[in-house]
Amino acid sequence: MSILYLAHTDDNGSLPKAALEALTAAQKLAADLGRPLKIGLLGADVQQAAQSIGGCNAEAFFSVSGEAFGPSRYSTDAAACAALCSAAEAGIVIAPATLRLARCLPGTAYRLGGRIDTNITALDAADGQPLPTRWYYRQRMSGQVQRDTQSFSGPWILTLAPGCAAPAECPGQAAPQAVDVPLDGLTRTTVTGVKQPNVDAQTIRPDADLLLVAGAGWTKKQNDGQAHVKEAGELLLDFLGKTKSSLGSSKSLVDLGSEGQDVLDFLTHLHQVGQTGSTPRHPKGLATCCHGEEPHVVGWRFINERRAVNLDAGCGWAHGKADVLYVADAFDVMKKVNELLGK
Ligand SMILES: Cc1cc2nc3c(=O)[nH]c(=O)nc-3n(C[C@H](O)[C@H](O)[C@H](O)COP(=O)(O)OP(=O)(O)OC[C@H]3O[C@@H](n4cnc5c(N)ncnc54)[C@H](O)[C@@H]3O)c2cc1C
Repeated sequence: MSILYLAHTDDNGSLPKAALEALTAAQKLAADLGRPLKIGLLGADVQQAAQSIGGCNAEAFFSVSGEAFGPSRYSTDAAACAALCSAAEAGIVIAPATLRLARCLPGTAYRLGGRIDTNITALDAADGQPLPTRWYYRQRMSGQVQRDTQSFSGPWILTLAPGCAAPAECPGQAAPQAVDVPLDGLTRTTVTGVKQPNVDAQTIRPDADLLLVAGAGWTKKQNDGQAHVKEAGELLLDFLGKTKSSLGSSKSLVDLGSEGQDVLDFLTHLHQVGQTGSTPRHPKGLATCCHGEEPHVVGWRFINERRAVNLDAGCGWAHGKADVLYVADAFDVMKKVNELLGK
C-alpha cells in the first residue's frame, strides 16, 4: 500500500507553505516505512506546483485539474480527493491541514471507508505503521494515535498542522497523470468569489514574530478621569501597521462590545487569547493593559518570550507569568515605541 501526499494549489498555481511542510513529513514517513510515495495534486492548473516538487523521489504523480477544481468547493474537492486516493491505491494519505482540505477530507475518508486524524503535529513510525501526535482537550494533553488499519478498508488520512515541519525544497520535472472526475451534479454550488479583509485589516497573523495583546485597560478611565478609546485604537493599529505583528485580546476587552460599551471596533472574539479563546504560537508576546489572570495567560503557553506593560506592579504578569514587566502607562509606552519605529 502506498503513501499518497495530497495537496492543492493556491490562487497563483503554486503550493502553499503548509503543503510543502506536509511533503517533508510524507517523504520522511515513506522512508521510515519503506513504502512508495505517490503525489496527488488538485487545482485549476497543477503544472507549476508539480514542477516545484518534481524532485521529491515520488513513484508517481496524479492530478485532478480544470476550471471546476480551481476554487475551494466541498463537492468537487471531496470527489477529486477520493479519486486521487483511489488512483494511487493509497493506504496512508498525508495532507496539509489547510482550510480547504480540512473541509473536504473528512468526507473523503468516509466515502472511501477510511479514517482521518486531523491537525497532527508530529509524525513518527512504529511497527510498520504511522504514529501521529496530536493535541487533545484544547491543547492541554498531547497523545499519539494508533489505528488497526486492518479493521477498515479505506485509507488512513492524516492532516499536518502548519509550522510542524520544514518546507520541502525539491523542484524537478514531473508530468502528472490526469485522473478524471465526472462533474455530474458537483457544480450546483457556484463559487462567485472570495471576500476577505485587506492585508492591513487582517490583524490575526499566525506567522508573525510578535503577538501584541490588548487588554480591557485600554478602554478604562485614565489619570485624567476620561477614557481614551479612540487614541488607544490608533496607537495599537499604528504599532500593528509598522511591525506586522499579530493582534490578540483579553476576554474582558472583546466582551465589552457585546455589553454596549465604547470599544476597539477591530477586535472580535477570534482575537481572544486564553482558556476559552485561542492558544497562538509566536516567538514573542507583548501584553498591554491586560491584567495577566490565569484564564488568559494559559493561552500564552506557546509564546516563548513574554513582556507586559501594566500600571499595576502587582498584576498577574508580575507573578512569574512574564519575563519582563514594565510598570508604566501603556499609552506613553506605545506612543514612544511607535515614534521609534517610525524613525
Ligand atoms: C472560565 C473562565 C474562562 C476565561 N477565559 C478567558 C480567556 O479565554 N481569555 C481571557 O482573556 N480571559 C478569560 N477569562 C477572564 C479572565 O479571568 C480575566 O477576567 C480577563 O482576562 C481580564 O481581562 P483584562 O486583563 O483585559 O482586564 P482587567 O482585569 O480589567 O485588567 C485591565 C488591566 O489594565 C491595566 N491598565 C489600565 N490602564 C492602563 C494603562 N494606561 N497602562 C497600563 N496598564 C493599564 C490595569 O492595571 C489592569 O491590570 C476567563 C474567566 C473564566 C472564569
